[in-house]
Amino acid sequence: MMKINTIDIFENSRKPVVGAGPCSAESEEQVMSIARSLASRGVTFFRAGIWKPRTKPGCFEGVGAKGLAWLKRVHDELSIPVATEVATPQHVEQCLSAGIDILWIGARTTTNPFAVQELADALRGVDVPVLVKNPVNPDLELWIGALERLSNAGVTRMGVIHRGFSSYGEKIFRNSPQWQLPLELKRRLPLVPILCDPSHIAGKRELLSMLAQEAMDLNFDGLMIEAHNCPECALSDNRQQIVPDELFMILDRLVHRSSNSGANEIARYRGLIDEIDDKIMHLISKRMQIAREIGEIKKEKGLTVFQPGRYKQVMERFAADSSVHRLDVEAMKDIFEAIHSESIRQQLRIVNDITD
Ligand code: PEP
Ligand code: MN
Repeated sequence: MMKINTIDIFENSRKPVVGAGPCSAESEEQVMSIARSLASRGVTFFRAGIWKPRTKPGCFEGVGAKGLAWLKRVHDELSIPVATEVATPQHVEQCLSAGIDILWIGARTTTNPFAVQELADALRGVDVPVLVKNPVNPDLELWIGALERLSNAGVTRMGVIHRGFSSYGEKIFRNSPQWQLPLELKRRLPLVPILCDPSHIAGKRELLSMLAQEAMDLNFDGLMIEAHNCPECALSDNRQQIVPDELFMILDRLVHRSSNSGANEIARYRGLIDEIDDKIMHLISKRMQIAREIGEIKKEKGLTVFQPGRYKQVMERFAADSSVHRLDVEAMKDIFEAIHSESIRQQLRIVNDITD
């Protein structure tokens, strides 16, 4: 059993929770300028990668530990929680001493149980909030296993981030969403908040809005989206980043459907169904009463209870009526056979003077 405590940002912020910021912290000015635009318009927390896991060597691998001071400045000057990715125990130590509010474990790290265990050991006794991205491969047990390793080390404030799963070949999404995995995780661990990262699913700006809406429709608790003051000149992930104005346009356009209003509508229809069922019950009871009166007559006249001609007539009527009402003939036959045979049972009791 995992012990889950709430992370403040999910408790005290307006919904959906939105984490935004550049893929990578590139300079103090870049970090401060993006953070100012985001914090002034109500983003829940600021994200920026300091150590960047890159597929190929020779790419920009992040500014490293010196960027932590820039994040701290964002926290102190703009009063907004800051988050960054950790992949090694040294990253954890450096983040903790710099006062980083939220840590996240990247997709490549979640894939590796040795690395996750090392992070869990480094976090023992600390209980800083940790967001765990899904592993790059669609393995739900591996994702939950990472949460269990953290939980076993005493981390209780955990959340997850769905950022899609990698696959080979030409594709629409950089990482395919495979929504059934995060939804199954939510079903199994309902207390763990779940964010969607449409930036890394999409890989391109044009798809962000559609994916963010899909996440809202699936009742995700929030979003983590990459935002940059000059997306085209970003040192990493420049195809998927957007300027803060675009981010707020996407957020403003999101349609929030309440899971409750759906439940109310269903409850209203269920009320109608209950009323109809009551009427059906009442009519069946009335039908049985008449059948019993016929039973008295059959008894008096010495007639057989079951009369094949009548039975055939009843069933033919139902078959004809079924198609008029666009009901399945076989299903209706089962129902009326059951009603007819209950009538026969009641008449038999009368003819045979069974009273109890
Ligand atoms: C990121 O958030 O910048 C990042 C590297 O994400 P992921 O681990 O999902 O690839
Ligand atoms: Mn990125």
